[in-house]
Amino acid sequence: MRALKLYGDRDVRLIDDEPAPPAPGEGEVQIRVRAMALNYLDVWGYRGMAFAKRKLPQCVGVEGSGEIVAVGAGVTDRKVGDRVVMYGADTCGVCKACREGRDNLCEDVRGIMGFHIDGFGRELMNRPSRLVVPVPANVSLEDAACAAIGFGTVQHMLFDNAKLEPGESILIHAGASGIGTAAIKMAKAIGCTIYTTVGDDSKIGFVKALGADYVVNYRKDRFEGEVRQMTKRKGVDVVFEHVGADTWNGSLLCLKRGGRLVTCGSTSGVSTTMNLMQLFQQQYRIFGSFGCSMRNIAQSLEKMAGGMTPVLDSVIELADFEAALAKLQDRKVLGKVVVRI
Ligand SMILES: [Zn+2]
Repeated sequence: MRALKLYGDRDVRLIDDEPAPPAPGEGEVQIRVRAMALNYLDVWGYRGMAFAKRKLPQCVGVEGSGEIVAVGAGVTDRKVGDRVVMYGADTCGVCKACREGRDNLCEDVRGIMGFHIDGFGRELMNRPSRLVVPVPANVSLEDAACAAIGFGTVQHMLFDNAKLEPGESILIHAGASGIGTAAIKMAKAIGCTIYTTVGDDSKIGFVKALGADYVVNYRKDRFEGEVRQMTKRKGVDVVFEHVGADTWNGSLLCLKRGGRLVTCGSTSGVSTTMNLMQLFQQQYRIFGSFGCSMRNIAQSLEKMAGGMTPVLDSVIELADFEAALAKLQDRKVLGKVVVRI
C-alpha cells in the first residue's frame, strides 16, 4: 500500500510498497483512509521537535477520515462500508478521563498520531472501533477529514473551555487560518460579535465573508489598540489565541475585566512574560486547550451536516504534502488543506 513517511527532520518519502496491516483484531476496524487534513502540528512534526519522542520512520498526518473495509471480532457498532472520522490519539479507553468522555485528558495516552506515532498518511490502518465516529450521509469525507482537529479543537476551545455564549464578543486571531475560519463560523452561528486579525489586507474580504464584523491587519496596526478602540475601551469577552508569544500580552489587553482567553497554539514562539498583577486585578481566566473529546468530533460532524462546512483552501495529492506545508508555514493558506489518500 502507499504511505507517506517521515524518515528524519524534513525528510518525507512517498512509499509504494508499505506492507498492509494484518486483519483487524478484536474490537478493531480496518479503515481505507480517504482524506487527511493538514495542521500546524504537521509543520512541527516535519521540522522535528526536541521534545517529541518518536520512532522514525513514521507515517505523517494528524487528522483524517475514511471508510471501514473490515471489522474484527466483537465489533457490533460498526460495519463494512461505514464512513468514519478517526480520533487522533491512542487513548486508553479505561482511565477516569476516558470513561467520562474527556478523552484528551487521558491519563495513559500512548501518543498523538502523526506526531508521536504513525498517522493517517497511508491507505489502510486498523483502529479500535471505539475511536471512530460515523460521518453523516450528507458530509463529504474531505470535509469530515477536518472534524477531529480543524473543527473539534475549536468546538472544545469555544464551548467546553471558554464557554462562549450567544451575543458575546470574541477576538479570533488569524481569522483566515484553518482553525480561525472554523472559529468565525461557530461564533457567528450563535450571534457573537467577531473581531479578527489577519496578516495581509488581501485576506480582509475573505474573513468578512465568513462573518467577521471587524478586521485588523496586525502587521499594519497594533491589534490591541484597535480592538480596545472598537469596543469603546471595554474589551472583548473572549480571546481565541493560537499565535503565541507575538500576541499573548496584546491578547490579554483586549479582554474585558473577567474575560476569558483560550489558547491551543504558539506558532510564533512558546515563551513570553506576563504581568501577574494585571492577571489577578483584571480577573482573567486563561484556558489551555489541546485536542478534543470524541463528543466534540460528533458535534463537529453535526455542524457540518447542518451546513457549516469547513473552508477548504485546496485538495491535494499525497505527493504535494511538503509543498503544502511550506504554504502553511508562509501563511498562504486560506482555511484547510485536505490531502486525498
Ligand atoms: Zn484514558
